[in-house]
Amino acid sequence: MSVDFNKDYKLGRNERAGIKALHLLWKRVPLDSACENVTDLIAQIQHCKQYEPNGDWNSLEASADSNIRSLVDLENRTLSKQQIVTDMIQDIDEGVEIVKPDNVYRRKLDEVDQAYKDKSSRQKYADSETMANYYSSLWVYIEDNDPEDDDSDIEVGSVRQNFNDPITLGLFENPYTSELCKHSYSYESIKSYLGDRVKRCPYSGCSASISVHNLKEDQRLAKR
Ligand SMILES: [Zn+2]
Repeated sequence: MSVDFNKDYKLGRNERAGIKALHLLWKRVPLDSACENVTDLIAQIQHCKQYEPNGDWNSLEASADSNIRSLVDLENRTLSKQQIVTDMIQDIDEGVEIVKPDNVYRRKLDEVDQAYKDKSSRQKYADSETMANYYSSLWVYIEDNDPEDDDSDIEVGSVRQNFNDPITLGLFENPYTSELCKHSYSYESIKSYLGDRVKRCPYSGCSASISVHNLKEDQRLAKR
């Protein structure tokens, strides 16, 4: 079957199954392994830094950073595309006939792209699990490197100062520390991550199972 987009092509109930199938294909965009590769790369860079602290790591880190951001942009755009199609399927279910669906789709995607451009970095990346994994592999190195030092949360390298909370990536706001693994988070972000459940600490490589009851306000970080 071919579609002549110059005609007033319409999507209705008959096409629903076809759209749904295409929609499912999008879910298989193989971004996960690309993201894991970049996250591994940043972990390796951190490892190498240990042995060659005066090496020129900044440009490598910057490159890994811009790669992971591009991948998250792509991830976000794929999610937006899926959302547009989900909305179209819902319209069809409600009996709406979509006239010139290619135009409708492109217009909506343009709107999404524009809205995305206007977002701040924090809005783009703070909710991203990929980004949280990426930054937590930066953090784990710092913590692992100095396991005996109680103040290691405060005596931090340049990386830690740039990226604080593992979830929002922002500076700590109202910092709380897990009693079980001594990792720290902004209270609001860890609370929304955990909800009322027991979950794994969001730092990669940390296997502590924590709930909000394991968190304590951390004055040391607050005073910083
Ligand atoms: Zn932890």
